[in-house]
Amino acid sequence: MVDEQQATMQRKKFATETKQVLELFAKWLYQNKEIFLRELISNASDAIDKLKLGALKDESLFDGDSDLKIWVMYNKETNTLTVKDNGIGMSLEEVIENLGTIAKSGTKQFIERMSQEQSRDANGQLIGQFGVGFYSAFVVSEKVEVRTRKAGLSEADGVFWSSAGVDEYDVRQDQVSQRGTEITMYLKEDAKEFLDEFRLRKIITTYSDHIAYPIVMFVEKTLDADKESDKDAEPRKEIQEEVVNQANAIWTVPKKEIKDEEYEAFYKHVSHDFNMPLAWTHNKVEGGKLEYTSLLYIPSEAPFDLWNREYKHGLKLYVQRVFILDDAKNLLPTYLRFVKGVVDSNDLPLNVSREVLQSSATVDMIRSGCVKRVLDLLGYLAENEPDKYQKFWDAFGAVLKEGPAEDFANKDKIAALLRFTSTKCDDQKQTLSLDAYIERMAENQENIYYVTADSYQSAKNSPHLELFENKGIEVLLLSDRVDEWLVSRLNEYQGKKLVSISRGDVDAGEDLKLDEQEEEALKKSEADFEDILKRAQDVLKDRVKEVRFSKRLKSSASCIVADEDEMSSNLRRMLIESGQSVPDMKPILELNVKHGLLTRMKDETQDEKFADLAHVLLDQAILAEGGQLDNPAAFVKRMNDLVS
Ligand code: ADP
Ligand code: MG
Repeated sequence: MVDEQQATMQRKKFATETKQVLELFAKWLYQNKEIFLRELISNASDAIDKLKLGALKDESLFDGDSDLKIWVMYNKETNTLTVKDNGIGMSLEEVIENLGTIAKSGTKQFIERMSQEQSRDANGQLIGQFGVGFYSAFVVSEKVEVRTRKAGLSEADGVFWSSAGVDEYDVRQDQVSQRGTEITMYLKEDAKEFLDEFRLRKIITTYSDHIAYPIVMFVEKTLDADKESDKDAEPRKEIQEEVVNQANAIWTVPKKEIKDEEYEAFYKHVSHDFNMPLAWTHNKVEGGKLEYTSLLYIPSEAPFDLWNREYKHGLKLYVQRVFILDDAKNLLPTYLRFVKGVVDSNDLPLNVSREVLQSSATVDMIRSGCVKRVLDLLGYLAENEPDKYQKFWDAFGAVLKEGPAEDFANKDKIAALLRFTSTKCDDQKQTLSLDAYIERMAENQENIYYVTADSYQSAKNSPHLELFENKGIEVLLLSDRVDEWLVSRLNEYQGKKLVSISRGDVDAGEDLKLDEQEEEALKKSEADFEDILKRAQDVLKDRVKEVRFSKRLKSSASCIVADEDEMSSNLRRMLIESGQSVPDMKPILELNVKHGLLTRMKDETQDEKFADLAHVLLDQAILAEGGQLDNPAAFVKRMNDLVS
């Protein structure tokens, strides 16, 4: 019996952010109202997955009913549409938790995006990603009722929940005769269109065809007239259950039998992304040591939370068709975290846990197989469908750049996929491959040159570029945060070294050798200026490691340089910003003997004025690198003194 106390209806307020989401849904004027059905079916399918997984350990959860299904029913008299499943169900606490609050982060972003007029329709499709799918029922409903009973609990432990989707809901313990969840929607006046068999079928086959469980509708069938004894009587009608979706796991179907539209629809289901996938690769491995199937998709747009620390990988693991887990992090490296899809293994045990996955040789083999598939697919796109590849790069290039550091074995393969901008590209769009760079470099050029900075503008205007421009040598302009990380691991490509132009002694590169005349002229002027080096060194000894003459500058007066084996000032800055401690490091200051300021220094007899000039040259060089001054006010004062 239901306990008196528990049976009492409780009225509860929705959490604040739930309320905001509900407000949005209630006022939904946009297209694609029908997505609510996809969301409810997706939840029903998740609930059945969970039940199956639970039943692996405890078969009694099935309680005699292992014929798992999803029902979609409508009733024109009551104006109701019902979605029902015999999955895991929910306890009272779970109902309050799941249908009163929103577990996933990102609700704020969701509301912000939905409030932008232009992007509403597109973003309406992101509901699934934001973990607010259930509430989309209120797009079409005046009132929603939920009856649910958790697997393993008794009839009396069922739950009844009801809400008009404004700011509160009612909930109580109730008798519920079947395990699973039933959601009944009292449709709004302008949503009656959903009380129609053909409309519902169409929506289900469009969005939910490859849900692995049967989606059943009750349809009226006219019985075969021949079998009737009385031919003049009205044809007899009967209500029958009919499965309206394909109800198969698409990855188990042979490739040849799957249409592109079916692959695309399945993508939308696994990824909760409304955009079309950019490309996919579907493979069955069998006959050898391993047996598994993978269906891996590359999305066409980056999800909003790609850079969040808790970003969920979009790969689902199945074992012998049974769903095991979402977010299968062990099956793909982090630098491929944008990949969505399914891996179904025949070798892993059904009770495999996250812990086991971390140290399983089988998983390692599957993982390297998946990596190969994805890299091959990207290589194929780069080669044969450059426009698509560029779209991929624009969305996920910065993620792929983590690759060479994370996946040493595939370093070269990944490097071939990288795209950059350079001093010879028109703008900051990253379109240049390392192969194309090598292709167009002069025959005697030995290295691949790059400069790193914290923005495209400061990379493009770096004083270090002057000599290279003069010599006509192309330099890669790296300004993504991840670039420092990339070049710290990627030292070589196709036998060419990757060399930073702001580090070490540029003269080291054969490419930049000055000709005899230049060399001589430089020697001569260096001799002329010799004594200012020592004076400047004395003045700046607390701030720099060394002051020397520059071979790389043409028009700027000064620049700072890191030693060959030291980290660049850009990397130092990034590490400091991210709160890491970095060893104290002083830069090398290089001075350009061809610049007028040096002549002025040479002629400066007053020590104090000389010191001002030296500090200004150093501060300028730091600013030109995008760095920050320890004492900006002092810089400004010295500048003003110099100018006036
Ligand atoms: P999400 O599916 O992304 O978690 P939803 O808003 O769609 O977000 O659902 C919220 C939660 O409510 C689910 O995570 C699940 O715990 C619970 N839930 C929703 N529908 C069902 C159902 N049919 N059976 C069991 N639990 C459900
Ligand atoms: Mg959902």
